[in-house]
Amino acid sequence: SQQIHLVSRPTGMPTHNNFKQVEITLPELQDGEVLIKNTWMSVDPYMRPRMIDRESYIEPFKLNDVMDGGAIGEVIESRNNQFPVGSKVTHLSGWRTAHISDGSDLTLLPDVPLPDQLFLNTMGMTGLTAWAGLTKVITLKETDTVFVSAASGAVGSVVCQIAKLKGCKVIASVGSDEKARMVKDLGVDAVINYKTVENLTQALQQAAPQGIDVYFENVGGDHLEAALNVMNDYGRIPVCGMISGYNNDTAQPGPNNLFFINSKKLTVQGFIVIDYFDQFPEFIEQMGAWLSEGKVKSEETVYEGIENAVNAFLGLFEGKNKGKMLVKL
Ligand code: NDP
Repeated sequence: SQQIHLVSRPTGMPTHNNFKQVEITLPELQDGEVLIKNTWMSVDPYMRPRMIDRESYIEPFKLNDVMDGGAIGEVIESRNNQFPVGSKVTHLSGWRTAHISDGSDLTLLPDVPLPDQLFLNTMGMTGLTAWAGLTKVITLKETDTVFVSAASGAVGSVVCQIAKLKGCKVIASVGSDEKARMVKDLGVDAVINYKTVENLTQALQQAAPQGIDVYFENVGGDHLEAALNVMNDYGRIPVCGMISGYNNDTAQPGPNNLFFINSKKLTVQGFIVIDYFDQFPEFIEQMGAWLSEGKVKSEETVYEGIENAVNAFLGLFEGKNKGKMLVKL
């Protein structure tokens, strides 16, 4: 089986030298175990901060060891009655082509007529993040004007669609004209290509003359600064992530207008999707209905083969993806 190991801790933007593809021979199956051939794996921005050796909500990746992350696979050998050959499962042992498990880390894919990889996208952690951020971390009102950064990405594209379903006005920020067209097709009201505008605050003011009530924070830095400038009183900011800083080795000075949190009486609430896992059933029911009614679209960008997994991961920081970045193994 092929695995990707982290062999050195990156400084700044990671490079291929930080990773190594390693071939290993898996041991014989023991009673109770299954052999899984992975078919899809997820690459995610949070994996970059996990490469730093420091305490956080999740253990740092170990050096010279296989990394992990969301994946989907099929049982190809089984000594466990719960997971017969042919079972499709999700688990967290990505970054490898095959995996032996005693079943305790496996969840069977629901038997529904949806492509498997949706369980790493709209029907998985990505969708849950968007849904929880908008409906559990804050309470969305249909009168809200919502600004979404990294809006064409995995989480962002779902946030845009849910906010539109809730009746909100949605303003999206993206990094290319092609992405702008994509989010327009998803129904957003206005799009800003942050790479071509001269002044993000002015662009946001033009797109939202009445100001914004919710900023779904995926990017940080200049986007947070612009959002704070244009935020209405009592605005809410669910802080999902701040990808613009993930490759900075030292903390950068923040926006200089944080005082608006005080003067505009804003609520800023960070959240981590893990804390919402107990709400998966409610989420799956809702998202499943939206998908089957055609109200939510699952956008994806697919790289092929374990040998392209690092390229897919690095691509997240270069804006190479529209929708969820996935690797087909
Ligand atoms: P995306 O699919 O959105 O991929 C990342 C995107 O971010 C890129 O496509 C790129 O698009 C944009 N981007 C990259 N660098 C920058 C930059 N310097 N400035 C502005 N935009 C940038 O990834 P996800 O949807 O998986 O993640 C989005 C955010 O949500 C991240 O901050 C992530 O950490 C966070 N997250 C948080 C979770 C939680 O539990 N709190 C769970 C999952 C994700 P573009 O071309 O537009 O620049």
